[in-house]
Amino acid sequence: MGNPFHLSDEVCQRLHALGCEKYQMSIDGLEQTHDWFRKKGSYRTTLEKIPLLNRAGIKSVIMTTVSGLNLHEIPGIIDAVVAAGAQAYSFARYCPTSEEKARAGDRSFISPQDYRALLVACDQKFKDYEAQGCATYFDRKDHLWTLLQYEQGEFTLPGDAEPGMMYGGCNCGNCHLTITPRGDVLACRRVRDSKVGNLFGQSLAGLWLGEMERYRDYGAFKKCAHCELEPWCRGCPAVASGADGDFYAADPQCWKEVPGFDAGSAALAQRAIPAAAV
Ligand code: SF4
Ligand code: SF4
Repeated sequence: MGNPFHLSDEVCQRLHALGCEKYQMSIDGLEQTHDWFRKKGSYRTTLEKIPLLNRAGIKSVIMTTVSGLNLHEIPGIIDAVVAAGAQAYSFARYCPTSEEKARAGDRSFISPQDYRALLVACDQKFKDYEAQGCATYFDRKDHLWTLLQYEQGEFTLPGDAEPGMMYGGCNCGNCHLTITPRGDVLACRRVRDSKVGNLFGQSLAGLWLGEMERYRDYGAFKKCAHCELEPWCRGCPAVASGADGDFYAADPQCWKEVPGFDAGSAALAQRAIPAAAV
């Protein structure tokens, strides 16, 4: 992950020679919005540097953090990165850093139905580009894509799935962790307060088999535990914990009606509140 400002043909070739295979940059809105988030000129510079990475044999990846502030600009961003020749594109949801930022009324908030509408619109755009043989790979990264694909009949529950087995979805506690430069081990770099220990004094194997258990209590997911998609989804607990302080809280953008989940909970209450204006 890096910024575009120091990339030149020479720097890209050197990066490649030193083993850099992929380089991810952010586009967080169309020009005005992105430059407001980052700095003036950043949008154009980022797009202009994509061909330099490609020429050097480095996979150019563009990533967007989606919030209520840029939700309606995502289709335009997709067109721009395709036109610039990005080799991969994906987006992930903004993780609120305080309860206020996670609630309707804050401009960063996205209602579940607005988020679903975004996925539907992007899905169509991705499929149109794929049908044209577009060189950009579209990574449907958010696990709520699985919910949309389930509704659209593109994902079906495997008949031979074993009860209690997790097959996909959120990787916390089952196939990834974060190690910071200070040696702190986190369940996920995006989950607030998810430190499980420190490598300068504790063994990674011990942490993985011990403290990390806090993130494997699949029956504790307040909504997902009642949902047939739990083994393949679980939304994004980083977004849920950012919004609620609870790793196992309902994903604030999950639009699925789940029998057995308390409709009076905060997650469902958010649905009634209009989407934030962009
Ligand atoms: S908490 Fe979210 S970002 Fe972290 S592994 Fe799970 S789904 Fe991915
Ligand atoms: S309830 Fe959980 S598992 Fe089911 S669709 Fe929503 S986020 Fe995914």
